This record gives sequence, structure tokens and C-alpha cells, in this order.
Amino acid sequence: MFDEGKIVIIGASNVGTAVLNKIVDFGLASEVVLIDINEKKCMGESLDTSHATACISSHNIYIHEGDYEDCKDASMIIITAGPSIKPGETPDRLILTKTNCKIMDNVMSQIVRYTKDAIILVVTNPLDVATYYVSANFDYPREKIIGTGTLLETFRLRRILADYYHLDPKLVHGYVLGEHGNSGFVAWSTVDIASLGLGNMDEFFNRDYKLNKGMIEQKIMQVVYDVINLKGCTNTGIAMVACRFIKAIKYNEYTILPMSSILTGEYGIHDVALSLPCMLNNTGIIKKFTPKLTDEEVGKMIASAKSVKFAMKAIEKKTEAVA
Ligand code: NAD
Repeated sequence: MFDEGKIVIIGASNVGTAVLNKIVDFGLASEVVLIDINEKKCMGESLDTSHATACISSHNIYIHEGDYEDCKDASMIIITAGPSIKPGETPDRLILTKTNCKIMDNVMSQIVRYTKDAIILVVTNPLDVATYYVSANFDYPREKIIGTGTLLETFRLRRILADYYHLDPKLVHGYVLGEHGNSGFVAWSTVDIASLGLGNMDEFFNRDYKLNKGMIEQKIMQVVYDVINLKGCTNTGIAMVACRFIKAIKYNEYTILPMSSILTGEYGIHDVALSLPCMLNNTGIIKKFTPKLTDEEVGKMIASAKSVKFAMKAIEKKTEAVA
């Protein structure tokens, strides 16, 4: 059954407003609240989007700017506060660690004053550092904190492979795992197309050359920086990712998606947040899966953990795990 409920979005810029607009288009809540240190922006964005709800095909959703007290009865909170990488900057989300952990501190300290019930979806980068930070440093049920993780890269994998073979991206199954960032990797051992076997596709499509997996993987990891350099930010793909999570939670789907959460021994990894396939329902993460990866893929997962842990050394505060 669908839970209409209230969604609070923190951060009302490129990503926050794209998420807002998709929630409204899909009718995923009865009320959406925008919070940002830039109150004028919240007011303008919520007013603008509220006018779209008057269309015959729209959902009559109550949209308004608000404050943290609105979290009290929210069913979900989406954190998009904090800057992104700008065009021309070092192409590595981990450079945002210090700045955005301070913002996570500010945001999460406010949230916990009002709720421990809402499911929190972390979108802010560096995604795995931010997910770790809010999960490890605050008294909040961990299963209710989800980082969007590598679902966006997984969508990119689907799109890029679909373009390569000229087919529907929804036929592509499998995962990008590890860091939402440069050390993330395609778990090729999980990838399949239409249950026909990835390894058979070149023959089915009469390709003279074997699929160049390295090139596909490089494209997936690079394309984010291409988008940032071309349009100044990424927001549309991530908004769809956020809505995929919102739908899974609000419809109590028991679906399985790659998402970021703190690992507790999976592949021998502790005390760092990374993406694994997890099962999700309206209470949050209910099960984490450790697919049978190749030794090389496990090595990449461990390298991802090292990379994110290394970046966390820049955080001054709290976190027993980063010492
Ligand atoms: P942006 O710089 O345009 O906007 C950030 C917003 O956060 C601003 O409106 C700012 O006023 C607000 N903000 C800053 N400090 C705040 C605080 N303490 N409380 C409330 N609001 C605060 O950034 P953007 O392009 O909208 O991106 C937002 C975040 O989403 C970035 O960290 C970006 O890297 C991340 N992102 C993540 C993914 C993903 O796959 N997880 C994809 C795209 C972008």
C-alpha cells in the first residue's frame, strides 16, 4: 500500500529542486517541504513548483518552504545540502569531504532534535563519506539511513550498454558497486542482458569485436565530469535515482537496489560506507547481499574501502573508525 506522507528535502538547489519536481510529477507525497540556508530560494522554488500542481494531470501536493520542525512527522528526509564539484575542479567527489561533513553535522544535528522515525536518503557528496558521517555520529537507527550510492552509476551502466547494443536499458541487469566515485567498479560477474548472457551478446548482434569492458567502465566513471563540465551540474539522473528509492520505500516494495550503508564485515570490510545490493522496504534497509564476486572484484571493493577511508582522515570530528 502506498504511504502518501510528507517528504522534507534539505538543500534547494540543482539537485534538491530536481528531486522536488520529480516527486511532484510522480505524485510520491502529499506534502513536500524545502529547507535551505537560502530561505528565499526555498520560497521561490516551492512557489514555482506549486503552480505546476494546478494542471489537470498533476497531483494536488502541498509544497512549501519550512524548517527542521517539519521533520517531526515526515516519512522521508532527502539530504541534498552542500556544494558539488564545479566545472574545471579536480574530478574527484572526495575533495568535498571537509566542507560537506561540516554541513552534514549541521543538518543532522537539527534532524535528530525532531525525529528518529523518518527514512533519510543521503544524496550529498562525497556520498559514502556523508552516509558514514550521518550514520556513525548520530543516535539514529542505521537501517533508516540510506545513501543513493552507485544506483546512479548502475543507471549509467544500463544506458551505456544499451546504447552499445542498441536495446532497451531496462534489459540490462547487474551492479556498479563500491564507492559512488572514482574507485567504484562494474561488478561484471553480476551483469546480464535480457537473461541472454552478456558474453553471448557480441555473437547475437554480429559484432566483429568483443565488448571492451574497460572502455565501458571508464565511460561510466568519466561521464559525470563530462555532464558537470557541459551543463554545470548533474541533477536529472540523480533525481530519478532518489525517486526510485522513494517509490521503493513508500510502496513497501522489498526491492533490491545498490545503495550505500556502513559495512559490517562484508568482504572483510568494516567501518566505511559503500554500495552493496540491499533489500529495502518501508522500514529501511532490511537485508544486505554479498554477491559472489570474482577475486578481482573483491580486490576492487577493498580498494574502494581504502580510498573512502583515506578521504575520511580529513574529518576533524567524532568517528571512531577513521582514527
Ligand atoms: P549546489 O551547490 O548547487 O547547492 C547546494 C545547496 O545546499 C545550496 O542551495 C546551499 O544553500 C545549500 N546548503 C549549504 N549548506 C546548507 C546547510 N547547512 N543547510 C541547508 N542547506 C545548505 O549543489 P547541487 O548541485 O544542488 O548538489 C547538491 C549535492 O548533491 C552535492 O554535494 C552534489 O555533489 C551531490 N550530488 C550527488 C549525486 C549522487 O549521485 N549522490 C549526484 C549529483 C549531485
